[in-house]
Amino acid sequence: MVIMTPKESAKHAANYRWKYRAMTHEERFWLHVSRRRDDQCWNWKHYTRPNGYAYFGVDGVQIAAHRFSWSLVNGLIPEKMQICHKCDNKKCCNPNHLFLGTCKENIQDAVIKGLRNTPIGERQGFSFLTGEVVEKIREMAKAGGRTQKEIANRFGIKPMHAQSIISRRIWKHIP
Ligand SMILES: [Zn+2]
Repeated sequence: MVIMTPKESAKHAANYRWKYRAMTHEERFWLHVSRRRDDQCWNWKHYTRPNGYAYFGVDGVQIAAHRFSWSLVNGLIPEKMQICHKCDNKKCCNPNHLFLGTCKENIQDAVIKGLRNTPIGERQGFSFLTGEVVEKIREMAKAGGRTQKEIANRFGIKPMHAQSIISRRIWKHIP
């Protein structure tokens, strides 16, 4: 424990804020999760909404933390699919405890749903990982050696959707 003067302490806080801002979304995300062994629950450290789920802000958009976690490991969440907990612990962000499915319980991701009608990029019902994933899809297509169907499978999306991304019919705002 270091004792700091108020001035040092303010400087430290400013440094931390600067560092935090310079982090990637992924690095920031894991700061808020208590990561433990692979077979244990990794709980969100902060408050959860009345629906029991934790949310994480990405560029001003609130994303359900477990959805974010799943996407970090697996990529885009296909439209109308849900990310379910094997452990029934809504605060848990351990990717090993999450699976893609159609849960019987109605997991409402109000944000994603609310954005679904807005016709650009990440707002089309897919997860936010968006920009990066779109770039990856285009890179893969450019590199060749894979069919669009294979690329689509890799990201859990429909071939038609991959085709639209690759041909830049959608996600035009990503170079
Ligand atoms: Zn868990």
